[in-house]
Amino acid sequence: MTKSTGRDLAARPARKLLFLQLADTIFNVITSKPPENALLVDTRTPAEYAQGHLEGAINLDLSAPRPRLRTPEDLQAFERSLAELNGKLGLGPEKKVVLYDDGLTPRLARTAFFLALSGLQVFLWPAGWQQHERTLEVPHIQAAKPWARLRRELLLTADEARKHLLLFDVRSPQEFTGETKASCCARSGRVPGAKNAPWEMFINSSGLLEQLGIVTGQEVGVYCHSGARSAVAFWVLKSLGVSVKNYLGSMHEWSGEADLPIEAG
Ligand code: ZN
Repeated sequence: MTKSTGRDLAARPARKLLFLQLADTIFNVITSKPPENALLVDTRTPAEYAQGHLEGAINLDLSAPRPRLRTPEDLQAFERSLAELNGKLGLGPEKKVVLYDDGLTPRLARTAFFLALSGLQVFLWPAGWQQHERTLEVPHIQAAKPWARLRRELLLTADEARKHLLLFDVRSPQEFTGETKASCCARSGRVPGAKNAPWEMFINSSGLLEQLGIVTGQEVGVYCHSGARSAVAFWVLKSLGVSVKNYLGSMHEWSGEADLPIEAG
């Protein structure tokens, strides 16, 4: 076996490279041992989890829930649902959560975003965990009192996204122009004024801020179809020290709100 070199790494697929490049810089990313007393969350598929996971890890995927988050009442209901979830998982204000997956997948990113929004301290572990021993044992989780404190500073609502000066739509150019549309969405197109920056751009963080035209201190918003690809962009920008917010409802919510303007072409 020869020692790995930069040249070898460059020959690997881009997805793998992302995590090697970001490993030391991403917000709260860990590459070796997770902090003590943290709940480990495996965001891979149930089948992958069942084949062996890290000791004490639960399987959780929050890439599906699409709550409406427009009014103060919506946000209160969302906070309550996050509190219930934390209670079921035995999570409270003192508890740390470490999420792992095979790379910074939209699944990992959105699940981590939900848990961070609930007020928990989250750590992302997209690479390096694979070297640790695995078990088939599913841990017993002791439920706790429901608790959440919505971190509004991470979240954009539709009405905030509408007024946002620097908003990136991280979907494909075809989704951005309205040429293609998810079958679950009422209308095609984009939030007026948004700029297209497909999420694959975020795979290589070097020179990313220059490419996006983000200057120091500027506040940035991101969205996609349902807040998962934009959660990847969120964590990458966060790792670069950008003040970033994710419009979690994204186009799925926007297209269903008849009063919101839409731009296409
Ligand atoms: Zn949709």
